[in-house]
Amino acid sequence: MNQDNFKLGSLLNHPKRTQVKIKGVTFGPKYIQLIAGPCSIESKEQLESTAVEVKKAGIKVFRACAFKPRTNPYAFQGFGEKGLDLLANVGKKFDFVTETEVMDTRHVKLASEKVDILRVGARNMQNYDLLKELGKVENPVIIKNGLAATLEEFLGAAEYVLQAGNPNIILCYRGLRTFEPTVRYNFDALAIPVLKTLTHLPVIADPSHAAGKRELVLPLARAAIASGADGLLVEAHVNPPVALSDKDQQLYSKDMKEFVKDVEVVTKAVGRKIELKK
Ligand code: PEP
Ligand code: MN
Repeated sequence: MNQDNFKLGSLLNHPKRTQVKIKGVTFGPKYIQLIAGPCSIESKEQLESTAVEVKKAGIKVFRACAFKPRTNPYAFQGFGEKGLDLLANVGKKFDFVTETEVMDTRHVKLASEKVDILRVGARNMQNYDLLKELGKVENPVIIKNGLAATLEEFLGAAEYVLQAGNPNIILCYRGLRTFEPTVRYNFDALAIPVLKTLTHLPVIADPSHAAGKRELVLPLARAAIASGADGLLVEAHVNPPVALSDKDQQLYSKDMKEFVKDVEVVTKAVGRKIELKK
């Protein structure tokens, strides 16, 4: 692998691991950071009742999508701009750092003003105009690996944002499409260790989209932490069976406290600590 292709992101050139900080929340390398919240913003009530439980679990970062990349054009497409306001209000009300997906260059400025952390979804990892636009803002950016991307291509996506001027990048590994039909995506147990030998950027994991099924999220979360992830991004909903997207994989938000406790066992075993709200 030619590390000059991602020279700004490479650990070879920057042996000190990067900390990405926002409003008292730190990603890498010491603490494990947790992000949780529903797949989609559906209503003020849905967001707030989910937020109450996520807050009780001590989690500091609340996620929810206003812009939705849906495979089926007839499926719920998200609340758009109005959703960003709902998320921003929940952030203020519950004192959360907020996180959401941007799908298009036109979303970046608007979202950067209302939401703290912006995310590039798997389907947009190679949307180079979007990546360049994210280089112009100061918000931390979470980049997910593409459904069939190599780790070098993943690091190339981060490099676009770094090169365009934003150093606050967090990589999020969410698994790959393979021929195995029993899980939604295959989560390579070596992906995070490999990334951490190549880059100084924090690397978190999304066990929810990889697992695709609620009962598989915790085992995969444990594995991700054991393999060196600097954090987790997990979907949680107050009432998953009626969720407008990803209802099979979202955890019940009332179970988040227990989830955190379960993950903490592995975190301790690998000599790390989850950064929770006191
Ligand atoms: C998400 O996190 O809401 C999402 C759409 O995930 P991915 O881009 O990994 O499919
Ligand atoms: Mn989802």
